[in-house]
Amino acid sequence: MGKVTGFLEYDRKAFGDKAVETRINNWDEFSISLPEDEIKKQGARCMDCGVPFCHDGCPLGNIIPDFNDLVYKGKWKKALGRLLSTNNFPEFTGKICPAPCESACVLGINKPPVTIKNIEVEIIDRAYKEGWIVANPPKSRTGKKVAIIGSGPAGLAAADQLNKAGHWVTVYERDNRIGGLLRYGIPDFKLDKKLVERRVNLMKEEGIVFEINAYVGKNISISKINVEVDALILAGGSTIPRDLPVPGRNDTNVYFAMDFLKQSNKRNAGDEIPKDEVLWVEGKDVVVIGGGDTGSDCVGTSIRQKAKSITQIELLSMPPIDRNEETPWPSHARLFKLTSSQEEGAKLDYEVLTKGFNVDENGGLKSLQCSRIEWINTDKGKVFKELEESDFEIKADYVFIAMGFLHPEHEGMLKELGVELDKKGNVKADIKNYQTSKEKVFVAGDMRRGQSLVVWAISEGRECARSVDKYLNGGKTSLFSKKETALSNI
Ligand code: FAD
Repeated sequence: MGKVTGFLEYDRKAFGDKAVETRINNWDEFSISLPEDEIKKQGARCMDCGVPFCHDGCPLGNIIPDFNDLVYKGKWKKALGRLLSTNNFPEFTGKICPAPCESACVLGINKPPVTIKNIEVEIIDRAYKEGWIVANPPKSRTGKKVAIIGSGPAGLAAADQLNKAGHWVTVYERDNRIGGLLRYGIPDFKLDKKLVERRVNLMKEEGIVFEINAYVGKNISISKINVEVDALILAGGSTIPRDLPVPGRNDTNVYFAMDFLKQSNKRNAGDEIPKDEVLWVEGKDVVVIGGGDTGSDCVGTSIRQKAKSITQIELLSMPPIDRNEETPWPSHARLFKLTSSQEEGAKLDYEVLTKGFNVDENGGLKSLQCSRIEWINTDKGKVFKELEESDFEIKADYVFIAMGFLHPEHEGMLKELGVELDKKGNVKADIKNYQTSKEKVFVAGDMRRGQSLVVWAISEGRECARSVDKYLNGGKTSLFSKKETALSNI
């Protein structure tokens, strides 16, 4: 809890953003922090709510009232200790988490919630600036070896935890850089890749080995890795995108969002893009299909590449602006809010069905063939109905499909291992211990739960690591979990 009367005295004040006209000319992050005094006041707004729903709202179980109180009192180092006791990477979540904790904040019932995410990022930024975050290798080693496949937030969190417990950890990544979607999905303007590199370098100093360009199941056999280790964690993410099999889909210039975003991130990191693969939308009409975060990232990327026009279309209805009976507090509701990328200049259109892609006389992409729909409640749930005579076209030189992801890649590693899959095609695991159908093989993150959030991936990585540690230690573990938090060594 901060100051008893803080929430009555101070209004919510969140970080600002640089002006659109400035920020769209580069790939830098654009949020503007607040002076220390103001951050302390924001911490003071955390009230004595009795049951802090924010704990439960946060998949990591962050001990939010404690660090709010410590920030209010200016005890930054102690606040850092509380934060790191449940979250390995607050520098990532503090930037890109949709903050379900704020949706669950009790103050949010009738006032704007505490700016928890801003406070989190301020604590970790300060800690790096002050030199409090240094490599802290384990004092002793158990001699046990763990291989982790995939270097996204789930794999990184599991690696960090197991290394802390003294096991030898090697992370295998098929890409040329570490980080998973933190590195090659989320654009630089949302998460500066220097932050990912800084964390990975620390982890290397602490003894974790990273193998890049290691496509397990393709250029490295999973069976070979498996016999060399005491436990294996699969953290390969959910990478198969949902497609739109309508006429014209296979014509030129209709791409999956990740083709565009990954290339853009690679280009910004200094990689050369082969000429015949270049996706650059300067001066072009762009349509993004899908109204979620991935779609929004395509919008922000297109804007920075100076597209002529950007339209983002969505099959679902526009979400409500405020909570209603379907989205009561403290749920993390799907409410309408323009993302920063949408604010930068995209046209948004809801309840739009894409029926096909039209080509011009030269065989190039010309437009999307669309119609309007309405959603109807039925016994079987909501279904959509096409509205009569509502056909229309949207001019497009490029289309990016951002309609979510189905499941992980089955060919290669998963097939070779023979792990069971669930109904959705994700890797099946016992949720109590994250163990797959195979002895000593565990799974965490999007590969288990389907495409989700960074904060969930970190949480799964931690919980899975705890199970692996128990498995390696004959049932005992020194690792903290969400349910059993303890203070870190800071
Ligand atoms: P991933 O991050 O997908 O990492 C998996 C890694 O495994 C990849 O690097 C992959 O190359 C590697 N891999 C897979 N198979 C193999 C193999 N056989 N051998 C070796 N390596 C392999 N969440 C948020 O909270 N906030 C956001 O703003 C946000 N924005 C997003 C934007 C985009 C464009 C996308 C696609 C997702 C976004 N998400 C966001 C979701 C979030 O990024 C994911 O939920 C999270 O990264 C999942 O972590 P993970 O470690 O399970 O998998």
